[in-house]
Amino acid sequence: MTQYNYDLFVIGAGSGGVRAARMAKRHGAGKVAVAEEYRVGGTCVIRGCVPKKLLVYASEFSKQFKLAESFGWDVGESTFSWENLIEAKDAEIDRLSGIYWRNLSNSGVEVIADRAVFEDAHTIRLVNTGKTVTADKILIAVGGAPFVPDIEGAELGITSNEAFHLETLPEHVVIAGGGYIACEFAQIFQGMGSNVCQVYRGDTVLRGFDDDVRSQVHSELVRSGVRVITHTVFEKIEDIGGGKKRVHLTNGTQLDADVVMYAIGRNPYVEGLGLEKAGVELAENGAIQVDAYSQTSVDNIYAVGDVTNRVNLTPVAIREGAAFAATVFGGKPTAYDHSDIASAVFTQPPVGSVGLSEADARKEFKNIDIYKTSFRPMKLSLTNIESRMMMKLVVDGDTQRVLGVHIVGPDAPEMIQLAGIAVKAGLTKDQYDAACAVHPTSAEELVTMNEKWTPPELKAAE
Ligand code: NDP
Repeated sequence: MTQYNYDLFVIGAGSGGVRAARMAKRHGAGKVAVAEEYRVGGTCVIRGCVPKKLLVYASEFSKQFKLAESFGWDVGESTFSWENLIEAKDAEIDRLSGIYWRNLSNSGVEVIADRAVFEDAHTIRLVNTGKTVTADKILIAVGGAPFVPDIEGAELGITSNEAFHLETLPEHVVIAGGGYIACEFAQIFQGMGSNVCQVYRGDTVLRGFDDDVRSQVHSELVRSGVRVITHTVFEKIEDIGGGKKRVHLTNGTQLDADVVMYAIGRNPYVEGLGLEKAGVELAENGAIQVDAYSQTSVDNIYAVGDVTNRVNLTPVAIREGAAFAATVFGGKPTAYDHSDIASAVFTQPPVGSVGLSEADARKEFKNIDIYKTSFRPMKLSLTNIESRMMMKLVVDGDTQRVLGVHIVGPDAPEMIQLAGIAVKAGLTKDQYDAACAVHPTSAEELVTMNEKWTPPELKAAE
């Protein structure tokens, strides 16, 4: 029998890789190693979800101070220090990365601080030390990397990777994109006092989400002071001196900024990994092609997380990693079910969404019932802030099963976690209604909406 240095070698210590390695050990795997070229914790912990949410909390205070005045408080003059925030954020990220590292070590996983690339299907080369090791099973969990457009002056822009390490808060920011990252960062910078312009190639941000979510988020972006320019993209970026850049848009508009940021998607991070030497095949979109058990085209090589471009979210990578470990080391073939995954967008107000959008449900089901409501959150009732909360249930009219829940408003991400249980469990509208409301909350609307909403075009046809 061939002797390998490791039973499992994981490339990438992000959410998926760390969970897979620890679970593999728990299932009784022998020698397990994880190689990480940057920092243990991956995108989510180091330069994604976690630091992003800290920045969201920081930026929300500007609105909270105004709100406080409506409730009788005099908060006096407030100032904001980007430098202090970044220092505190960095300390927290160091702490978390340390915990991830210790958890791996304490589980008996060897952590290798190096870049690992394939030499063949069982052989890995560690780039910095030049050492070569072999492994029976190899898991690729290298995640994704921001996509940078191929335009003149592209190098003058930054991505979310660098946004977390800016030395000062920019006065003027131009952000390209209308997805998660662009919308979240537009409001992070705006809330901290920057002038923000967001440039989106479509007409309404957050494509892929329910249309009511999209229009609500879009109008909240504008209402909060973000200048949103639609139907255009960057043509080129010019250095105009003094640290300033000029963005030329394809519609002829020119925008001057201190920071220009791309948030136009992320690509699987496969470059230079030596996949061709191992025989691992890629899908047309550049992602590693895997089956339901995360197995690649090569029997002993698996891949989880963003590098497979299935559903690019941290908790999904974690579940895929755990399913891989159960399949390969736990003797229990487990295919992670990617349906009805709840997700949140940390805009201000935020989004919580699970299941089918109205448009997708109408494509799949014959009779769709829609329940929706829009109201002023109670916390704003003493203010003149016009922001509204939107809630929507997408229901199969034949079975009454709730197919989708979509919320925009304060605490939407917290609410959607619980609504996600109900949607995943396949509960019906009657079962929602059987739950007694919690009063006074916004969430109570989820169990009290009883009037079906008819789209104007269907109403006309009735
Ligand atoms: P998204 O895929 O969410 O959005 C990309 C945006 O860029 C879209 O608006 C898209 O337009 C636009 N775009 C794509 N290509 C171009 C181009 N060539 N020129 C101009 N515009 C372009 O990517 P993000 O970068 O925002 O985020 C990456 C991933 O990170 C997300 O898919 C998500 O999975 C994850 N993420 C999750 C978060 C969360 O859960 N809260 C937070 C942040 C990131 P169009 O709509 O027309 O396609």
